[in-house]
Amino acid sequence: MSKPDSKPIKIYPRLTSGRFNNLRVAMVVVTQLVFFGVPWLQWNGRQAVHFNLAEHHFLIFGISLWPQDFIYLAALLVVCALGLFLWTTLAGRLWCGYSCPQTVYTQIMIWIERLTLGDHIARRRLDAAPASVGKYAKKGLNQLLMLSFSLWTGLTFVGYFTPMRELAVLDMGPWDLFWTLFYAGFTWLLAGVLREKVCLHMCPYARFQGAMFDDHTLVISYDEKRGEPRGKAQARSEEPVKGCIDCGICVQVCPTGIDIRHGLQYECIGCAACIDACDQVMDKLKSPRGLIRYTSAQALQGKPAPARSLHRPRVAVYSCLLAGIIMLSTTALVLKKPFKVDVLRDRASLVEQTDDGMLQNRYNLRLINTTEQPQRYRLDVDGLPGIRLEQPGQIVAVKPAQTETVAVRVQADPEHATRGAHTIHFVIRSLGDDVTIREKSSFIGE
Ligand code: SF4
Ligand code: SF4
Repeated sequence: MSKPDSKPIKIYPRLTSGRFNNLRVAMVVVTQLVFFGVPWLQWNGRQAVHFNLAEHHFLIFGISLWPQDFIYLAALLVVCALGLFLWTTLAGRLWCGYSCPQTVYTQIMIWIERLTLGDHIARRRLDAAPASVGKYAKKGLNQLLMLSFSLWTGLTFVGYFTPMRELAVLDMGPWDLFWTLFYAGFTWLLAGVLREKVCLHMCPYARFQGAMFDDHTLVISYDEKRGEPRGKAQARSEEPVKGCIDCGICVQVCPTGIDIRHGLQYECIGCAACIDACDQVMDKLKSPRGLIRYTSAQALQGKPAPARSLHRPRVAVYSCLLAGIIMLSTTALVLKKPFKVDVLRDRASLVEQTDDGMLQNRYNLRLINTTEQPQRYRLDVDGLPGIRLEQPGQIVAVKPAQTETVAVRVQADPEHATRGAHTIHFVIRSLGDDVTIREKSSFIGE
């Protein structure tokens, strides 16, 4: 990678328009519709996506996840990471350019700035202007709008953990308030103040993404063969323009202030603003588009892409890992039992004797209904001849996605429950869907 230009301290990116800009705007709209909209969705009368940390229970469109299920969330994170690696190998920094939250929120903050302070020239002039009431009124309004948007973002973020409909009427506890303000401040600081500095100096992904690239990875590149020698003379020439006229617009639109004509640089976040800008210049000059374009190192050298350009070692490894993890976790999710049982021995009383001479142990059974319907469970026990519950065939009702803990007493004949621990099983049958779980435990004899 070549050395970047020395950059001004503050960057005032020029507005662009074009197909990639439209795509970026569409991604901002889609991601924000999802982020702001999902906490308002209801599913079977409850918030559709709710990460209830207090009760260690995550609810995602009817799928209940308890601490025992966090392996699925871990699998989801691994799938996202591998998906990002695969995507980067194939198409470079598309994630950074179009859907990374830092890019999306910076884009929104720049829109607010354009609304309140004007275009890149007006903003630069305002910063250079002497202090005045008008200047600070404009800047104050800009900050007020950015902070209001950040607060809305913070409130929505907390809405994934505390019911959104309660937060919306400001029915919140001190921790909800703390996290709302924290996330709002974080959004304002990263997207409203630091902006491209986060990508340049704080994001680790920018540093190691190069390791995922190969000669066929699509990256945004300047076609040096076509563009050079550059110069404004080309624009004045009678000959049709082919190369770069050195207008500098591709640099003016760059949100990180680099010159793509110096080659691939880690500061390039892949936003494609320079492609749109250069395409517009080429359109005006009636020259073919694509002096800056998505292309691969291989294609830039004039070598044809191999017929099977997807058959590359990195692509194959990431694809196989991804497919394997998705298949395994989907199968496990489909086969997941609709309820869970935890057995806890009551350690306060080991062995008791009943009036009819039986030995008795006490347990707490924790029944977790992971479905969206109320369920009834029948409790039984086996493992020793004549072993029984104090209430044989006891039925316990558990509400949808709720947990119920019941205290049970198990009684066994001392003739069979001799001194020491005996393996027994609690047999819990869900009456609705006829699923049975056998949970191992031990019975202490006299
Ligand atoms: S926008 Fe295109 S023509 Fe203008 S300086 Fe950049 S590469 Fe050259
Ligand atoms: S060089 Fe082009 S693609 Fe890279 S950050 Fe700048 S404008 Fe975006």
